[in-house]
Amino acid sequence: MRFVNADGRAALLVGDQVFDVEKASSGRLPADPMEAVRNYWDDLRTLAAEGALAGGVPLGDVTLGPPVPVPGAVYAIGVNYQSHADEVSHDVTRVPPVFTKFPSAVVGPTADVILPPGDHNTDWEAELCFVVARGGRRIPAADALDHLAGFMCSQDVSERLLQFSAGNQFSLGKSYDTFCPTGPAIVTLDELVAGGHDPADLGIQCRKSGEIVQDARTSEMIVDVPHLVELLSRVLTLRPGDICLTGTPAGVGWGRTPKQRLEPGDVVETTIEGLGTLTNHVLPPDA
Ligand code: ZN
Repeated sequence: MRFVNADGRAALLVGDQVFDVEKASSGRLPADPMEAVRNYWDDLRTLAAEGALAGGVPLGDVTLGPPVPVPGAVYAIGVNYQSHADEVSHDVTRVPPVFTKFPSAVVGPTADVILPPGDHNTDWEAELCFVVARGGRRIPAADALDHLAGFMCSQDVSERLLQFSAGNQFSLGKSYDTFCPTGPAIVTLDELVAGGHDPADLGIQCRKSGEIVQDARTSEMIVDVPHLVELLSRVLTLRPGDICLTGTPAGVGWGRTPKQRLEPGDVVETTIEGLGTLTNHVLPPDA
């Protein structure tokens, strides 16, 4: 199943047709994508499995928003690829650094990224994002995948001057409005497998204005998704609709010599095999 936010409404994507969830369920399921993800995930799966949905519209006729527009929490994992740890000279620890992007930063797959005013060094981090469907605490890695709605692409856009100022302001430096593009769909694990993909080994790539700047596989993660679920839920209760960005491979702007940053007019494209592509245009600071 592919779940999308189409013009602000919960919808299923089948091929290139979008089916409104509320209409397709004759009003049994909600139109609000956040409510649908948080409270109706199993019902959505049932609806999708029944097939023969009516009333599809072409994907090109809608604007896709963030599939999880107001997550309760946006967890993010630091230095979870050895290649990225090397480029930023960070020691790899048994428990990777965990921080948050504030939910107000979340935007959709084609939203513009707006640069902050003043001096900045804003760059890109392509990341696999998992979405929690069934909450819980102390979830063992062996059970973790049963708790997930699925995966989507995400961009951990990062302003490094603030991030590394005043005792490491990771959460603030990564939470300017528009700094968390997500989507285009939540893709379930069985959908990935049916498409011939291994959910634990997906190609992940970032392009900046056409140039490939990151190119890796999610199997290179130091701590894999099931163990990230175990690690987080050992401390906190994961809740339906929480999302987690799982770290980025090498190739960020900050790790280059000389360092690179995004400029107005750049286009950031983030592609994960089987999940689709985020296309985000970079705009100058707003007034
Ligand atoms: Zn990141």
